[in-house]
Amino acid sequence: MYQQKYDVIVAGGGTAGIAAALSSSRAKAKVLLIEKNSYVGGTAASGLPFIDFFNRDGRQIVAGIAEELMKQLFREKAALKHIRTSGGHLNSVTMIDPEWLKIIAEEMLLESGCDILYHSFVCGAKVENDTLSSITVANKNGLTKFQADCFIDTTGDGDLAKFSGARYHQGRERDGLCQAMSLLFKLGDVDVERTTALFSENPVVACPVGGDHEYNLHISGKLSKWNDIVKKDEIFPHPDHNIWAGTMRQNELTYVNTVRVSEKNGADAYELSEAEIEGRAQLKKVIYFLNKYVPGLEKAHITSIPNGIGVRETRRIDGEYVLTGKDVIEGRKFEDRIARNGYCIDIHDPKGQGWGISRIQSQDQSYDIPYRCIVPVRIDNLLVAGRCISTTSEALASTRIMPSCMALGQAAGIAAALSANKKIAPRKLNVEEIQNILKKSGALI
Ligand SMILES: Cc1cc2nc3c(=O)[nH]c(=O)nc-3n(C[C@H](O)[C@H](O)[C@H](O)COP(=O)(O)OP(=O)(O)OC[C@H]3O[C@@H](n4cnc5c(N)ncnc54)[C@H](O)[C@@H]3O)c2cc1C
Repeated sequence: MYQQKYDVIVAGGGTAGIAAALSSSRAKAKVLLIEKNSYVGGTAASGLPFIDFFNRDGRQIVAGIAEELMKQLFREKAALKHIRTSGGHLNSVTMIDPEWLKIIAEEMLLESGCDILYHSFVCGAKVENDTLSSITVANKNGLTKFQADCFIDTTGDGDLAKFSGARYHQGRERDGLCQAMSLLFKLGDVDVERTTALFSENPVVACPVGGDHEYNLHISGKLSKWNDIVKKDEIFPHPDHNIWAGTMRQNELTYVNTVRVSEKNGADAYELSEAEIEGRAQLKKVIYFLNKYVPGLEKAHITSIPNGIGVRETRRIDGEYVLTGKDVIEGRKFEDRIARNGYCIDIHDPKGQGWGISRIQSQDQSYDIPYRCIVPVRIDNLLVAGRCISTTSEALASTRIMPSCMALGQAAGIAAALSANKKIAPRKLNVEEIQNILKKSGALI
């Protein structure tokens, strides 16, 4: 079934990788998706909500494959509908069941004719004359080489681009530090009503509405009520005692986001290992604390921890254009747009000193992401999509949300298929052609 040579190889099967492989395969390319885990989904498989399919005014700005995936999940009752939120930093929340996401996304990929290779880590690349000629994959079979006409790096960390010698930046401009990481977890046996009622009185930002659901869907609360205890028992090593959580089903918190690990490099195996260990040690204290003090969580127990700590920021591959924080805030528009986003700049301080947002100021409450942000400056047959695109650290704090990663993946997939088919480097493609295909396939640009 598997081939040694493909039209397009996609490295990494998170939100961006799913959309990239699917759109490339639907554009008639023979595609291999390579994923180090045993499932697709990446960070989305930790149960986080897809935020901001909508802008602040309630206009949908991301659709395409991302919306298609949500519709399939709605059908399986494995996602709640898009819930518009009020008052806080979010414009909309779409809660999903992460286990169903793995099943449905895999089905969609297989139906498109894409090959999926799990348990395989892309660990090397051979570049000749600025062209990626083969990549090396490590798995149970040892080391294997694969070739393709065009490659897409959707590893989140830009691993393939880095192995190819592409230029990149990491962390904030002044000291190279990245946003804090968070070890997420899922809780069972939760009295959701009591817990959400408590946090509605104690919000970080206004608590999003529960829509027409009988219980509140999303918590965004402060733990400051228990400041003395938190300090005495050294629960958190930082002053950012917020809790973000969401519920997809009765009696569970599908994800809880409160553990923070800072000043570690998520693209370094040694520091990442230290972060996992620190995250789990913090989680143990947090669980004892939640059980003891937070109403509704007395009996709550961990039902799962994702396959890896949540990494918000690592490498950003230098592209033909670098999207800036100013572009985001001013809602800048570009002729070569391939995606739109309405999410604020959302920064979890790299030193664990808190959390802050900056809102988009333009009238239409959204900005464009240009095609040039997914085209690395050096390697000719490589595209990037998702978290590792070409931005400043500030702009990444907005572009990194999942609907936007999927929109970028969809565009990269189309561009890679065109490049493989026409034997033209991605940077030389006619962007209007990509935009037309995107529009025909339901993307909003
Ligand atoms: C704690 C936290 C909370 C967040 N909250 C939200 C939220 O509420 N809503 C929202 O929309 N976004 C949220 N985000 C942001 C969002 O989840 C991520 O930015 C987004 O999912 C990144 O998608 P991606 O496809 O670029 O990367 P990933 O989801 O990281 O996918 C990368 C994939 O590549 C695989 N991979 C990596 N390296 C290799 C390799 N060398 N070889 C093979 N496979 C590889 C990984 O296993 C993974 O499957 C949050 C992020 C974090 C960390």
